[in-house]
Amino acid sequence: MGKAKLKILELEVPMDSFSVYHDDGFVEDAIEHCTRLDRKYGLREGRIRMRAAELRLLKIKHAGIGGCYDRYEKGCEDHHHIWYFDTGFDPNNIRVRAHEETHALDGLGGLRLLEQRIFEEHGLNLDLSSYIDRRNDERVIGRVGEEMVADLGSVYALLKYGFDPREILEDGLKREGFEKALKIYGG
Ligand SMILES: [Zn+2]
Repeated sequence: MGKAKLKILELEVPMDSFSVYHDDGFVEDAIEHCTRLDRKYGLREGRIRMRAAELRLLKIKHAGIGGCYDRYEKGCEDHHHIWYFDTGFDPNNIRVRAHEETHALDGLGGLRLLEQRIFEEHGLNLDLSSYIDRRNDERVIGRVGEEMVADLGSVYALLKYGFDPREILEDGLKREGFEKALKIYGG
């Protein structure tokens, strides 16, 4: 059985033989990168153009996406990809990368591993899956619970590397999920 190495969370997640984990690293151009992945996994051209248009819109609206987790099927294989922007600020990069890694962890069915760590290191007994509404996973909008859990991964990672998560908030980041995650940590 293979293992996905989540670098920032420092977790190794056991995977079944059909799953592949790809940490694509820092990406300069989101649309270019997504389009390349979409082509690689054989999405239809119409769908590829639609996804590119969606990304362009996100950029225009300054939605503040720092990275992305995406899952592709290829034959009987399940490919989990994460990528992210270099924000030029270490704590923020940790926040973004841990966020995407936590999405991947969820996708790989390994949230328990993070729960264990949070319990061991902070004494918090959390049931991360209970925050996620699995019925509502079609659109990005409305996936508040999923984003909050990903932000819990960010808060965990920031504390692990000795950064104060509140400083990131003061850095102009006002995100509902992140604030909720901080509250859960008692911050
Ligand atoms: Zn997210």
